[in-house]
Amino acid sequence: MALFEPNEEQKELKYEELRIYTDEELNNYTDEELKNFKCKHDIPDMDDLEKGPWPSYVADAKREALHRRNLADDRMMIDRDVVEDLLGQSQLSFDEGETHWKHGGIVGVFGYGGGVIGRYSDVPEKYPSIAHFHTMRVNQPMSKFYNTDYLRSICDLWEYRGSGMMNFHGSTGDIIFLGTFTEQLEPVFYELGHIMQQDLGGSGSNLRSPSCCLGKARCEYACIDTQAMCYELTHYYQDELHRPAFPYKFKFKFDGCPNGCVASVARSDMSYIGTWKDDIRIDQEAVQAYIGGEIAPNAGAHAGKDWGPFDIQKEVIDLCPSNCIRMVDGKLGINNKECVRCMHCINTMPRALRPGTDTGCSILFGAKAPILDGAQMSMLTIPFVRCEHPYDNIKEIVEKIWDWWPEEGKNRERLGELIQRQGVSKLLEVLEIPPMPQMVTEPRSNPYIFWKEEDVPSEKERTIEAYRRKHKR
Ligand code: SF4
Ligand code: SF4
Repeated sequence: MALFEPNEEQKELKYEELRIYTDEELNNYTDEELKNFKCKHDIPDMDDLEKGPWPSYVADAKREALHRRNLADDRMMIDRDVVEDLLGQSQLSFDEGETHWKHGGIVGVFGYGGGVIGRYSDVPEKYPSIAHFHTMRVNQPMSKFYNTDYLRSICDLWEYRGSGMMNFHGSTGDIIFLGTFTEQLEPVFYELGHIMQQDLGGSGSNLRSPSCCLGKARCEYACIDTQAMCYELTHYYQDELHRPAFPYKFKFKFDGCPNGCVASVARSDMSYIGTWKDDIRIDQEAVQAYIGGEIAPNAGAHAGKDWGPFDIQKEVIDLCPSNCIRMVDGKLGINNKECVRCMHCINTMPRALRPGTDTGCSILFGAKAPILDGAQMSMLTIPFVRCEHPYDNIKEIVEKIWDWWPEEGKNRERLGELIQRQGVSKLLEVLEIPPMPQMVTEPRSNPYIFWKEEDVPSEKERTIEAYRRKHKR
């Protein structure tokens, strides 16, 4: 495989050159001060959210509020009270049982349609420092690998020009910068783009930031180079990422194997899942070592409790969903034709079993969270394609979908809903692939595939009059 080459020369960021705050400014409160911190608004329900053993965003918000109280006036470009006002408004929403974020308002950076989500308070007279509270999406690096220079630099930037609060990561994958005023959007965008070589992510009716699992960087199960695919498609579809021209959002996610660590099957309109065509590789000696208890099953993952000795029959063979594993004369055998790539046997005995070597990916379409018709998983449509840079075969498939869905999709209709509305047969027509028996959910009663008249030639007269002659209303 060719070594990965970035599309442009990569800068090496140095925090010491980019830093805005001194160490003293970054560590500007004591534990005692934090313990005694009181928000300027009365926030009993928010305080309640701090109780219990789990981490609390309210506790984090209070740290940030105290930190901003102790910074000098000229060290923040938006009001220091932004976090306290946010807590105050959240309490008001609890009290009144309704949100106080205003709907509407388009705001963004020059040349991009996505990347910024406009947000305004509808009680700005009470909470003036969150009168604007825009969210910026920052396109995460592939597999979310960072170094501390990068992380510290973006934290300083957002402290200076925004609320200092951020999410790692939004469910699409981006880093989310939470809350700033309109005047700060362009400066943040400039700093990110020109100084930090960092792009904004997608928001609105466009391609959202593609995301991928760890892939070949760290995972031995990876059947495809998820990072290279994600990087290439992110760069290739920059226009679709930044300029909303679709009926609604569109997501690509890349899983290196069917374990699905980025859950592409549940969360993307077009899911790519690494798979293999040939046989699962078996190391019979290692199989015996598992049976003999020399190697811990599941890579030792459930070792906290005594589950008794490993039982290959009970824990692997009986759990194979296609019942295609046998022990024959003390050797493990797999009927690979029947294997549905569920990964269970491989996950249980990773040193004995490995995915095959003839690898590529399956493509599935149509997953989404519930907006119009309820949550939906994506549907396996293309069982196997090769994945080799520059992925022209995959771009061809993407473009067939993008010729159809933006044309036929209604406003805010995801690809999965369009497939439901127009039928899988239409999707197959668009993709120019033949139907397969596996695409029929319930044969004879509820087929996904509806045959057209011309597909089923008949001698019989097929008119409504002919039908009515035999079947009364
Ligand atoms: Fe590894 Fe598969 Fe998870 Fe990717 S999806 S990180 S290849 S287990
Ligand atoms: Fe059976 Fe799943 Fe193993 Fe295939 S991957 S052999 S379906 S347990």
